[in-house]
Amino acid sequence: MSNEQTKSANAPSSSNFLRAIIESDLKAGTYRRAGMPEVITRFPPEPNGYLHIGHAKSICLNFGLARDYAGRCHMRFDDTNPTKEEQEFVDTILDSVRWLGFTWEHQGEAHLHYASDYFGRLYEMAEYLITAGHAYVDSQSAEDMAKNRGNFSEPGKNSPFRDRPPAESLDLFRRMKAGEFRDGEHVLRAKIDMASPNMNMRDPAIFRIRHAHHHRTGDKWCVYPMYDYTHPISDALEKITHSICTLEFQDHRPFYDWILARLAEGGYFDQPTLPHQHEFARLNLTYAITSKRRLLQMVEEGIVDGWDDPRLATIVGIRRRGFTPESVQLFCERIGVAKADGWIDMSILEGSLRDDLDPKAPRAVAVLRPLKLILDNFPEGETVECSAPVHPHFPERGNRTFPISRELWIEQEDFMESPVKGYFRLFPGNRVRLRYGYVIECTSVDKDANGNVVAVHANYFADSKSGTEGSANYKVKGNIHWVSAEHAVEAEVRLYDRLFTDPQPDAGGKDFLAAINPQSKEVITAYLESGMDKAMPEDRYQFERHGYFVADHEDSKPGKPVFNRIVTLRDSWGK
Ligand code: ATP
Ligand code: MG
Repeated sequence: MSNEQTKSANAPSSSNFLRAIIESDLKAGTYRRAGMPEVITRFPPEPNGYLHIGHAKSICLNFGLARDYAGRCHMRFDDTNPTKEEQEFVDTILDSVRWLGFTWEHQGEAHLHYASDYFGRLYEMAEYLITAGHAYVDSQSAEDMAKNRGNFSEPGKNSPFRDRPPAESLDLFRRMKAGEFRDGEHVLRAKIDMASPNMNMRDPAIFRIRHAHHHRTGDKWCVYPMYDYTHPISDALEKITHSICTLEFQDHRPFYDWILARLAEGGYFDQPTLPHQHEFARLNLTYAITSKRRLLQMVEEGIVDGWDDPRLATIVGIRRRGFTPESVQLFCERIGVAKADGWIDMSILEGSLRDDLDPKAPRAVAVLRPLKLILDNFPEGETVECSAPVHPHFPERGNRTFPISRELWIEQEDFMESPVKGYFRLFPGNRVRLRYGYVIECTSVDKDANGNVVAVHANYFADSKSGTEGSANYKVKGNIHWVSAEHAVEAEVRLYDRLFTDPQPDAGGKDFLAAINPQSKEVITAYLESGMDKAMPEDRYQFERHGYFVADHEDSKPGKPVFNRIVTLRDSWGK
């Protein structure tokens, strides 16, 4: 574990290397241009899946830096791969970014972009590169191209087509665009250096033939630009200043700079300073899977209940689980930004969640594993009103009230017929306080034919009510929660836990499916404090002694809430 986990949420925010870079650029005026912010970042997902917690880090980083330095952040879809992308993904990605609390609007202008909007310009620039001798159409077979690329220890070999005259390449490229060739028959490559130690500089492909329908441009194109070519150009066209990406793109940076430099020579960009790529370590979170491919597999094989299964680290999943956007932002601040890959412990995410929810969440009582308690000396048919603070630390939020009556529900684990040593809760002959109610003394139990306890009997002390003078005369060690059986709200509650038993379920080629936690979801019927039937979808509560719960936004109906456990009160995994 890195020591990032001990970093306080209030640590000065300039403590990350990206902020240091931006601050030095601001000081030097690197990107000072009339009428433009000096910091323009972008979040550039490919619309080929759902976003996950790793993307949240990138979103918080890019949008957060723009916010903190009076800049703007563009939302851009890197939609250069027609066969894997869909409008459905575009919509959910936009939704997730908005939910996290960010906007791509700046001074009344929406900076929502699509790489596909640049297809025309990307094509023109490619023609320019051919004319200027920086690109050529290669007609080798895919196998020959791969073979001639060499490997880490061997330099590549020039293609026999590398020196074909620009006019010939241009003619072929135009015919590629006109649809005269099949997929893979020709490819446009940058002309750089087949002997470069950096494989990405060995004449990378920049346009390829793909007879495929694109979710935005339809059938207009049958040649599509490659990601590595599209990305830097999109950045430059949008006048991005700091292009922040994950470490695996470090080796792509020389090409990023090369392509922008060639096009700048051609007069394509009017800004004096081109965007610069900076890399940071991607987020790896323990007990979570963030690979799109594996997420898809779990959804398709029915291992989870869809993309928004509350156990998944997708943004739609953690939202349904009950995470707040603020808790995710807090988490991203706490983990900071590193330059080397590492693992972040799930407990940091859960800790951020608890820290965010604790002051916000109103309290309520819920009995999750009910056991009947009968107060034999409590008058039948009568009720007495009890009251409790909505939030113990904020008296100004007022009180809630609920009735106590003769028959109650208590937690099974708050009763033991034969108590173990140190057990202070209810057992025959012992006294406990019913939270916000009375002190009671256990008298007997009812059992079924198999000897299981089905009800517990007790007497209550009428002068012991919490908040009255008499209550001070009773000293008890145990304090248990309860709801009145007649007044309780019956509700489905889903107890979620971590999806995996292994902290790094897919590291080192492990079969992550073998590490599925069989107890990651349990559905129970619980009894909630009266009034909880009014909970609205996405209302969050602390169920006292249990943890934080949210009314499920899909399945909760008016008067009939369904709750998801967001997180327990304390981390029980480390112990
Ligand atoms: P793919 O494998 O499909 O490329 P991806 O996770 O890289 O998946 P993108 O849509 O390309 O997905 O990612 C959008 C942005 O989010 C990129 O800038 C990428 O670097 C960043 N990103 C993706 N995963 C993480 C992660 N685990 N931590 C931090 N940033 C991430
Ligand atoms: Mg990617």
